Amino acid sequence: IYFFLTAVKLPGSRTYIHPHTYEDPNQAIRDFAKEIDASTIRIERVIGAGEFGEVCSGRLKLPSKREIYVAIKSLKAGYSEKQRRDFLSEASIMGQFDHPNIIRLEGVVTRCKPVMIITEYMENGSLDTFLKKHDGQFTVIQLLVGMMRGIASGMKYLSDMSYVHRDLAARNILVNSNLVCKVSDFGLSRVLEDDPEAAYTTRGGKIPIRWTAPEAIAYRKFTSASDIWSYGIVMWEVISYGERPYWEMSNQDVIKAIDEGYRLPAPMDCPVVLHQLMLDCWEKSRSERPKFGQIVNTLDKLIRNPNSLKELANRFLKDHVTLKTGVMAAENSVLPSQE
Ligand code: AMP
Repeated sequence: IYFFLTAVKLPGSRTYIHPHTYEDPNQAIRDFAKEIDASTIRIERVIGAGEFGEVCSGRLKLPSKREIYVAIKSLKAGYSEKQRRDFLSEASIMGQFDHPNIIRLEGVVTRCKPVMIITEYMENGSLDTFLKKHDGQFTVIQLLVGMMRGIASGMKYLSDMSYVHRDLAARNILVNSNLVCKVSDFGLSRVLEDDPEAAYTTRGGKIPIRWTAPEAIAYRKFTSASDIWSYGIVMWEVISYGERPYWEMSNQDVIKAIDEGYRLPAPMDCPVVLHQLMLDCWEKSRSERPKFGQIVNTLDKLIRNPNSLKELANRFLKDHVTLKTGVMAAENSVLPSQE
């Protein structure tokens, strides 16, 4: 199968290989992740909780003797063979990627316990928390466009490799000390089990409704075009400094409003062009949504021509108050999508 796939791909482009296509999942790990000697890792402190166990920060001594800061995810004791496989699947997916806006895998520890996944350390943690902490502190041009550009560039790389993320959201983007944003969260079971935002649909799938394209909710049509829909939601999260999409509306109401053509309004101080880009990502027909490459180009043009960002979508604070406290149906708070 791979011979066939690589034969039809253009030279230079690579396709992502799903770990489940390996008969022996340990072979996928050996192919895509470097085994790290546990004695070169120094764990320093706990920084989070993952689906399979703690996430810690620490240091890794490279073969060159240079030390780097790393994040260390470990698999808690008492796991089943399937849990071990699912835990390590994240490493065999991440290990296939090499891009400045995708979280970098340093390697894995599988020969001794606990089993660990070592990645680059992202000092500022997840993007949603970071934005809430720095509410209102950045200018659109300096940082927000830069963050959005980085995420779009990472997503272009993934879509070029035919990888569909399915759970693109600010909580799954990590931020480093230079404010570079990187896409993370590549586990196989994660969309189904790990994400607290994921809710069961009538068909039994578990999906983060507010971030997910209608066709993916309705019939599980997950594609790079459904990732684009989620990307539009991430843009909205970034500009609104980590506001919850659709506020406190219920998932059912969100699904209904989207189906009726309503879309999220522009956040406060959002340039018209950026809100228009979001609305393009939220086209009902997935073939009409932009591609990640186009998004990167559009953002680059805006960065080069900051005057294009001057016209703001809501010029009156009163509108914003309506938006924050109102519901989706409030007059002029939510634009019906163009049919
Ligand atoms: P995860 O299991 O990947 O969702 O990780 C749980 C939490 O640990 C995240 O929400 C982050 O706050 C933190 N975390 C995970 N990976 C990293 C990393 N590479 N650098 C810094 N923090 C991380």
